[in-house]
Amino acid sequence: MIEQVIQLSRDLCDRHDVSAAGVGFGGPVDFADQRVINSTHVSGWDEVRLPDILSKALGVPVVVDNDANVGALGEYVYGAGRGASSEVYYTISTGIGGGIVIDGEIYRGANGNAGELGHDPILRSGPKCACGNRGCLEALCSGPAIARRASRKMGDKATTAKAVFDAARVGDPAAGEIVSEVVELLAMGVASTINALAPQVVVIGGGVSRAGAILFEPLRSSVRDRVMPVHREDVRILQAKRGDNAVLLGAVALAHSL
Ligand SMILES: [Zn+2]
Repeated sequence: MIEQVIQLSRDLCDRHDVSAAGVGFGGPVDFADQRVINSTHVSGWDEVRLPDILSKALGVPVVVDNDANVGALGEYVYGAGRGASSEVYYTISTGIGGGIVIDGEIYRGANGNAGELGHDPILRSGPKCACGNRGCLEALCSGPAIARRASRKMGDKATTAKAVFDAARVGDPAAGEIVSEVVELLAMGVASTINALAPQVVVIGGGVSRAGAILFEPLRSSVRDRVMPVHREDVRILQAKRGDNAVLLGAVALAHSL
């Protein structure tokens, strides 16, 4: 994989005047040490100093961060969070990633792993999560979690989150119930984040966010019901604008900081 990354990057370096590169990596990263900790999805990525390897191969400085952090930065600088002082970002797809940007800087917390908003524990005895805990937001509201909820309720084993939202949009009552349940659970996570951080905007991206109004309208209303009254007027939940390019654009923004 690294060879492929180097090859594709070299092609870009040949065609453009490249002075730095940024990487959004799909897994935990030790940002201070500029090292990949591991990949949650692919084996063989334990303790990889990816920026060192790429920097040697490409002859430019390289910086790496977790892809959800980088996606948050991409939306903050080039997308829905543009102009805001602070942004909280959720990306809801096969999992739920999160990132916090405050005054233009990714907030990393004391140990570098702040912003894991998908692992907000929402239900005490909820389904098992990839992180080992139970009832995390990710285990309840990710794309596959929505599909699982639908296959339990509707008996359709092959369904997807997109099919559930599509059916709800045309008035299917069972699909509508699933969307309401998912929205309520998601609202608990988002409301808890707003109570803790009072961000100027909450941006939601990832495949599930493409459901659009059928997700965002009830979510805004449910979050308003759940946050403390002092935050109620300030709830701004926006659909991400940069789609799959948020991570690429965030990597650009990160490289600019070198
Ligand atoms: Zn979890």
